[in-house]
Amino acid sequence: MGIVRNEVHLNTIIQEYLKRKSCYVEDRLWIIKKSSLGGFGIFAERDIQAGEIIFIDSPVLLGPRCVPDIPIQCTICYRKINLITCNKNCHLTICNSCVDSDIHSNECNLIRKLKTNKDFKEGDKEKLTKCLTPLRSLILNEEDLKVVSILKSHRGDQHGKEVDILTEQLGLNITEEEKKFMYFVCTVLDANAFEVLTDVEDNMNSVRGLYPLGSLANHSCFPNAFHVFGEKHKMIVRAGVFIPKNSEIFHAYTRLLWGTITRKFHLKNSKHFICKCERCMDPTEFGTYMTAIYCEKCKGNLLPQKTSSWQCEICNSKQNVGRILTMIGSVLNGFEADDFDRMHTFLNKKLPLYMPQTNQVAVELKYKIIWILGYRSGYLWENDLIVDLPSRLILLKKRYCQDILELIKKLRTGKCKTRGLLCYELYLCNKELKSRDDTEGWDGENITETYLLEAVDILKYDIGAPDLIKEKKAQLNGY
Ligand SMILES: [Zn+2]
Ligand SMILES: [Zn+2]
Ligand SMILES: [Zn+2]
Ligand SMILES: [Zn+2]
Repeated sequence: MGIVRNEVHLNTIIQEYLKRKSCYVEDRLWIIKKSSLGGFGIFAERDIQAGEIIFIDSPVLLGPRCVPDIPIQCTICYRKINLITCNKNCHLTICNSCVDSDIHSNECNLIRKLKTNKDFKEGDKEKLTKCLTPLRSLILNEEDLKVVSILKSHRGDQHGKEVDILTEQLGLNITEEEKKFMYFVCTVLDANAFEVLTDVEDNMNSVRGLYPLGSLANHSCFPNAFHVFGEKHKMIVRAGVFIPKNSEIFHAYTRLLWGTITRKFHLKNSKHFICKCERCMDPTEFGTYMTAIYCEKCKGNLLPQKTSSWQCEICNSKQNVGRILTMIGSVLNGFEADDFDRMHTFLNKKLPLYMPQTNQVAVELKYKIIWILGYRSGYLWENDLIVDLPSRLILLKKRYCQDILELIKKLRTGKCKTRGLLCYELYLCNKELKSRDDTEGWDGENITETYLLEAVDILKYDIGAPDLIKEKKAQLNGY
């Protein structure tokens, strides 16, 4: 908002911010510089080895997302236990341990000050909670305000609906100047906020957080850096691969296992840009063939061309694939989240008529199946005396994990979080096979341990990591 953004200024403000939040380390590995992609980016100050922590960041704003169904949880710590509605008439849901905190008392005062006498109607409480994140910007201290105001923003009418809800629907008494500032904050949030998982047990439960340094990293569809969230919602950014001095540090705003068409769609809609990274420019996506569909004439691979038409690699014929994609999309939408049988049949019987097993659709189904087998009822590893999961399904899960790890290797993303999660699942599969004396398909003691160590290495700073990973980490550290 009228503040000049230049390299020196950005580096100083961010550095001071991280110091205030006790996230700063001397000999920092990063520096903010102009990026060849336009705007600014983060660059390596020296060679960075795979797995090294590049920086740790703390959210300057954190809070609920403005989406239709938000879970009922404490508005400060996001836990779902011992919840009450604040009795001072701010209407916020809060837990026993946070009700007397300074953070709540500041928010509570703000809301009560802005409320015009009227009582809230049914449903207003949820509306207030959904809009809490931009509202929180009104009580930032001066230094944090400065940090928010140097971040990039998206212009456009679709941003800032929270402000309209707060003023028009809830009748909060907000000044024009405050309104203008909150609109700006919404555009900053929409451009930069990260999804932060808040519940280890429920990976659908998330809020959004504004991480000043994290948000300065540009996007690549094969990023060289990854983040996990640690204590107090801190973001820990590590190198996935070796990053030579002076090269730009990228993370992905999209899922790794999405094909080019899905990524493009998402980036254009939510981040308003068209990615031109090497993966996007290569129709085979580094030989992964994640977007390939079979040619009707010769069964070769049809790949998307720049002109939005699809062309066969072998016979060069051009074909329209819209019908097939629509048909497959509607089948996928019809699956229940734990319908293993239908997913498996579709993946192995129907899909091979239209596309290779490398296609994103097949990859996604395999990924879903990995999280059904061993976890969903009817497919649990063990259920006291009755074994739910037959060994052949453990072997199937193992194979799908390996297929996706192979794919990740081709995508050149190194020690990414998905790899850590899959290595852990491979470890569990092997452990289970061993415990059943079912050594056919068991990879042996050494490889099983290697999978666990790899998972620990990648997930060790992740607060949501499985307990076994945390225990193993403590063990390795000699606690
Ligand atoms: Zn709480
Ligand atoms: Zn209150
Ligand atoms: Zn890209
Ligand atoms: Zn062909």
